[in-house]
Amino acid sequence: MTNLDKILHQVKKPARYTGGEWNSIVKDWDKTPIKIVLSYPDLYEIGMSNMALPILYELLNSQPDVLAERAYAPWVDMAAAMREAGIPLFSLESKRPLNEFDIIGFSLGYELTYTNVLNMLDLAQIPVLASERNDSHPLIIAGGGCALNPEPMADFIDFFAIGDGEEILFEILDSFRNWKQPGKRVPKEELLHQMATIPGIYVPSLYQVEYQADGLLKSITPTVPEARPTIQRRIVTNLPPPVTKPVVPYIEIIHDRGAIEIQRGCSHGCRFCQAGIIYRPIRERSQPEMLQAIGELITNCGYGEVSLVSLSTSDYPHIDELVASISRRYPNLALSLPSLYIDSFSVELMDSLPSHKKTGLTFAPEAGSEGLRRIINKNISEDELLKTATAAFERGWTGLKLYFMLGLPGETTDDIEGIINLVDKVRTLSRRTKGRTPQIRVNLSTFVPKPHTPFQWVAQESEPGLSAKHELLKQGLRRKGTKLSWQDPKVSLLEAALSRGDRRLGKVIYRAWQLGCTFDSWDEHFNYENWSHAFEEAGLKPDFYAQRTRSLDELLPWAHIDVGVTTGFLKKEYQRSLEGEETRDCRTESCNACGLEHWQPACREKLGAR
Ligand code: SF4
Repeated sequence: MTNLDKILHQVKKPARYTGGEWNSIVKDWDKTPIKIVLSYPDLYEIGMSNMALPILYELLNSQPDVLAERAYAPWVDMAAAMREAGIPLFSLESKRPLNEFDIIGFSLGYELTYTNVLNMLDLAQIPVLASERNDSHPLIIAGGGCALNPEPMADFIDFFAIGDGEEILFEILDSFRNWKQPGKRVPKEELLHQMATIPGIYVPSLYQVEYQADGLLKSITPTVPEARPTIQRRIVTNLPPPVTKPVVPYIEIIHDRGAIEIQRGCSHGCRFCQAGIIYRPIRERSQPEMLQAIGELITNCGYGEVSLVSLSTSDYPHIDELVASISRRYPNLALSLPSLYIDSFSVELMDSLPSHKKTGLTFAPEAGSEGLRRIINKNISEDELLKTATAAFERGWTGLKLYFMLGLPGETTDDIEGIINLVDKVRTLSRRTKGRTPQIRVNLSTFVPKPHTPFQWVAQESEPGLSAKHELLKQGLRRKGTKLSWQDPKVSLLEAALSRGDRRLGKVIYRAWQLGCTFDSWDEHFNYENWSHAFEEAGLKPDFYAQRTRSLDELLPWAHIDVGVTTGFLKKEYQRSLEGEETRDCRTESCNACGLEHWQPACREKLGAR
């Protein structure tokens, strides 16, 4: 019996740690020279639902000299049992300790997983701070949406890969291969210098950061010639074929179905949405490619349900034809369409899905009034909203889930009343259409200003203001019998501080982890007191990062990361928000010249058409 076998019976859901899943790839450890572990700093069930890791897993394992394995954050029971038994964090495929790999790659998708990165490194018996690691330790690299402001994690990561991973991955591998060749090996420091020359790679240790006396950032300066003053986001022009042989879990995961990315990017231009900027421009996969991929996914994985994934699925050109073709070719397959735009077409589309249960439809108006929706550029009229709800009830849906954000820039109590009135109108409508009370759920989140968005300069609303608005909503909606869910505003405060933070936050993250913070995105583990202590000990305040309006001239901690969309465009969009002016969708209307027009073929064409 191995040490692992001895502890598995002590923990919940041991299948999180046993590996051996269908389609997992186990290569010969001794015969494969480059060993990489792809790590997700959250629970297995969440990490296995992530769309990026399977792409990298497949691409890396397609290289004969590379083996790529997986690791997820062990839940607290397992982490404690591993520490007690002296078992270092291991990969699921070979069960090798992570410190035996050459490279550990983290996917950073949510700021509240940062302490899990530290915990995973520590469980792997690898020094958490990059400055304490030497040539014997694996390279620790990171990518994903949060890498677009890498500074808060700069103390822990050797280098970040900024943007799409599909091409840069091979350039990293080439450099690493070269470095690993017998007789060619130089100190890791030199490898990092070489890595810094790859477009899209950011090596934080090669930059000096200075602050002004008032705490604002003064400069971020490269300290070696190889480090670039600005790092350009990598954008793949054409999406490579979708993953059709992903690892199939043995236990239920968050998105427990096959998934195919039908397009990347979104053109609606909602001003609060970071994904809408950092995944620009739109890149679509063709319908024949989708049809073939779904067939392969069914054959390779046995899935009975497939999700057509995109930031705004109903925007995919001729999505209705795609859905009809899939249903004809695979009549027993259930389809799911996440992230639908609010219009009657989306309802018709959902209605056309085979074997779709009509229990709940989800839409995100985000704000309660047309005026506020114009400010955030979510341009849906109340008329359209009510028409969509009517269409849903007429076609037999018995529930509606509506997502709103609290604390949006320019929001007043009238906008909160607007949410209550809107929900009330939807309820009345449903009674009129079908004569029964529908289930209406309202999900509230708190607005978090994000880097690289037109709202990157605005302050997050303080807790008393948010709580008052929440109370107003609670009272108003309770009277109407609507269920309301809301996240603790302290979670959003921390998210806002970390997402717009600078390099000094490394000390805060480190201390919070030392004080016991892990799984911060889980209500039962979120401990704001510990975070408060950590900020205090570092001489910093979360509201400096989260609740301060920044001047348009302030040097932002992510200014050296060039996502392709220009600061000029973001400033113009911010100005338009103040004036309540709409910016039209650049896919259906003309190009808005966001900065990508000169180097993205699809955008160049649009610009030509102006
Ligand atoms: S360059 Fe134009 S078409 Fe391309 S993403 Fe930007 S606004 Fe849209």
